[in-house]
Amino acid sequence: MHRPLVALLLLAALAFPPALPAQTDSATGPDPIAQLVARLDLERYKATIKGLTRFGDRRQGTDRNRAAVDWIEAQLKSYGCSDVSRLKYEYQPRAPMPLTEGVRLPRDTTRAAGSGRYRGVRARTGVNNDSLRQPDARLRALDAQASTPGARDEVYCTKVGSLHPGEMYIVGAHMDGIGWGEAANDDGSGTALVMQLARIFSGPDVRTDRSIRFILWNNEETGLNGSRAYVEQRRALQGSKDEPKWLGMIQHDMMLFDHGMPRADGTLAADQRPEADVNIEFQSSAKLAAEAEQLAWTFERANERYATDYPASVGSHMTNTDSAPFQDYVPAISLRENERGAQIGAGWDPNWHQPTDLYATYSDKDFRLGLNAAQTTLAAVAGLVGATIK
Ligand SMILES: [Zn+2]
Repeated sequence: MHRPLVALLLLAALAFPPALPAQTDSATGPDPIAQLVARLDLERYKATIKGLTRFGDRRQGTDRNRAAVDWIEAQLKSYGCSDVSRLKYEYQPRAPMPLTEGVRLPRDTTRAAGSGRYRGVRARTGVNNDSLRQPDARLRALDAQASTPGARDEVYCTKVGSLHPGEMYIVGAHMDGIGWGEAANDDGSGTALVMQLARIFSGPDVRTDRSIRFILWNNEETGLNGSRAYVEQRRALQGSKDEPKWLGMIQHDMMLFDHGMPRADGTLAADQRPEADVNIEFQSSAKLAAEAEQLAWTFERANERYATDYPASVGSHMTNTDSAPFQDYVPAISLRENERGAQIGAGWDPNWHQPTDLYATYSDKDFRLGLNAAQTTLAAVAGLVGATIK
């Protein structure tokens, strides 16, 4: 067996001894992971999403995007998170290829993105670019400024480990959105999750052996440009004073809506389906697929033990999100409301990239799925970094 895999399995086994009760062990006192999970709160999670939606769709290359980066940075500082910093890069959109150029292969419509299989009923998906489909004049005006190419910032902070500060897990979500709405679910829901974890791990009484970096990517919607910039700038620096060694990358992208498959007429159920789950995905074609799969099951076990409402499932088709640029260098997984390729790509989320991706669209049953994903990641990462409470 691969040595990093053995190390990862060992870490996972140490993090989640299977037979211990979840709450209290009379020999060692209260379970610190359960205590940390209890610091997550539905109302704070919702308030953070609501705070992000004040900046409309936060489209990259706009004033509202820059204002949102500033606001996130101020929040991270207020949580006491260490080393609040920005990664800087340039973004120049590629000119669209003229339709007459190049050979266009016929698209395989039976295979979903990430190599999953479509099953059952599929409904239409796409990106809304029409401002007039946003009926709210205030929001239409807020989202009106067009994106311009150029300098970009994305913000992160770090919980510095006490024993092995030079080794870290990366916990991410993207703060930019599109579609003439509020990008509340895509990806305010993931951004707020990462921010809440930064808050809890930065608590003055929380100690971790290893480090955790909390990062809010920009330019996801243009093709993962913010996370690609991070990998390009930092990969070779790992192990130096400028960049801890990466142990894993965990992405959160669209956390709220699991109303099931579209009905035959293309419509969706109004409510969260009772059997909604958190989809933990790795990519089976990644160089580190075996290690990523183990990491995914570590998260599934953390969900089983600590999440209050919704279970998790593991899938092998991670795709189209900021964990992808990492997947050949470090075990990388994503958490989502549904599988990105075969489910979201088949129309399971009617608000995806639409003017209806608004805070007001979602109910507490929806927000609670995001909270359960937060519980899952918090518990899994707390175990992996050796979190304790002083
Ligand atoms: Zn997204």
